[in-house]
Amino acid sequence: MNSKYVFNVWITEDAESFITDNMDVVEASLKLFFWDRFEMNINRFPDRILAEAFNVRRSQVDIKELIRRFREEYKPRPNVVDMIFIDRDLFIDGRSYIFSATHMATKTITISIFRLAYAVNLGTEDGRSLFRERLYKELIHELGHLIGLDHCMNDTCVMAFSPDIPHLDKKLPMLCNVCVEKARVLGFNMEFDGGIDI
Ligand SMILES: [Zn+2]
Ligand SMILES: [Zn+2]
Repeated sequence: MNSKYVFNVWITEDAESFITDNMDVVEASLKLFFWDRFEMNINRFPDRILAEAFNVRRSQVDIKELIRRFREEYKPRPNVVDMIFIDRDLFIDGRSYIFSATHMATKTITISIFRLAYAVNLGTEDGRSLFRERLYKELIHELGHLIGLDHCMNDTCVMAFSPDIPHLDKKLPMLCNVCVEKARVLGFNMEFDGGIDI
């Protein structure tokens, strides 16, 4: 992977303070895969698109509608990844909710912080750490999909599918050895090599 990636970060108004306070977590996840070979831009996600993708009956955002309407206005470009952060509950057909998703064909990553912060007291150090850890895990999981990794059967690997918060909290914020090797084959070196520092 030699070409430089551009990450357009899109933040809805209601997610803005959560994400700007934790932009170091977003950057750390990008560095894990892309080292210094990425640029990041920050944009406000259009309220209108969020409203159009909101399913009133379910009181949740429809991921397929969100991507479809977003891509009507913002066409995918080579080496550009669009990463959307929302603070509304997100769903896909067949599931009651999802935390995040990656649409490979258009390189669109969508992350909902709605459940990541649910029942977490962000006024405490422990609460903030837990939220940041969950956010980091969701980010590296979706970036893992973006580079071509599938779900992992190892339930502590960050590439394991998490249907709910207990499964998410059980995962470690890292790839297992098998996924590290798969990433290496795909051209993404996750480990330092050579130099020894003590
Ligand atoms: Zn997944
Ligand atoms: Zn794994």
